[in-house]
Amino acid sequence: MTKPVVTVIGSINMDLVTIANRVPSQGETILGEQFHLIPGGKGANQAVAAARLGARVHMIGAVGTDTFGKELLHSLEQEGVCIDNVKPVTYVETGIASITISDGDNRIIVVPGANHALCPEDIEHCEEIIAQSDVCLLQLEIPLSVVEKAACLAKKHDVRVILNPAPAQPLPQQLVEQVDILTPNEHERDVIFGGMDVSQFAHKLVVTEGARGVTMMKNGQPTLIPGFSVPVVDTTGAGDTFNGALAVALSKGMRLEEACLFGNAAAALSVTRLGAQTGMPTEDEVRQFLK
Ligand code: ADP
Repeated sequence: MTKPVVTVIGSINMDLVTIANRVPSQGETILGEQFHLIPGGKGANQAVAAARLGARVHMIGAVGTDTFGKELLHSLEQEGVCIDNVKPVTYVETGIASITISDGDNRIIVVPGANHALCPEDIEHCEEIIAQSDVCLLQLEIPLSVVEKAACLAKKHDVRVILNPAPAQPLPQQLVEQVDILTPNEHERDVIFGGMDVSQFAHKLVVTEGARGVTMMKNGQPTLIPGFSVPVVDTTGAGDTFNGALAVALSKGMRLEEACLFGNAAAALSVTRLGAQTGMPTEDEVRQFLK
């Protein structure tokens, strides 16, 4: 069977993960328990999630020519993600995310670095790849002009577009119109649509609600597709796993409701393990879990 093709256009970061019993208050220094360097970035995370779940994945993004950049490219390659269209940039560092985990919850600061060197022309060069994809998966850790160009090219070739609108920012209406599925969490939904009438876009919305699962429209009604109850170790990357899984499931022809259930299962498995990419399940693990 030919693998579904998912093209991810997004960020590639090194996650600097600190684990502590609690978060320090302002001006306070505390001792943490552990420190890890873990490949991350919403784009790369979602690419890895989709690859582990059985898709052929093209990553379009940018990294610095520094040590982190080299390590991140290597790790994407190890996951079977095609990195031919990741641009090396010399004048800015690879993106990083500083993550603090305490009590299974996380706080994150992202420094975009090379991710913001990606430009619409880079996407134009990848038109052929986008055209041959089943799904184009986007997030907001790269310049909005790049996201808009990608959505526009995908639509031109009738390729389904999923936009995970994170980190939250107000979106141009034209972009929302071009997107087939928007996957905000509840906070992102409020930032994007706060005070706006969402009814015309409601059919595109799949709102992730943490352990509760996701809400999507079914027969014109908001309907909860329940999450799975699991022991939580680290929720970093739960949303990324959900989005990668959703893209694969839809590429394989599942209907939206079934795809959301598959996404919930994959994301639930990911929160039982440490790290964003390191915690992501394989296709077999999700299948076993759903038995
Ligand atoms: P984000 O990580 O982007 O904030 P959410 O917290 O909404 O997104 O989580 C995304 C998805 O991950 C949820 O819709 C759910 O399927 C799954 N998930 C998140 N947290 C848990 C949890 N504690 N237990 C089980 N599933 C979870």
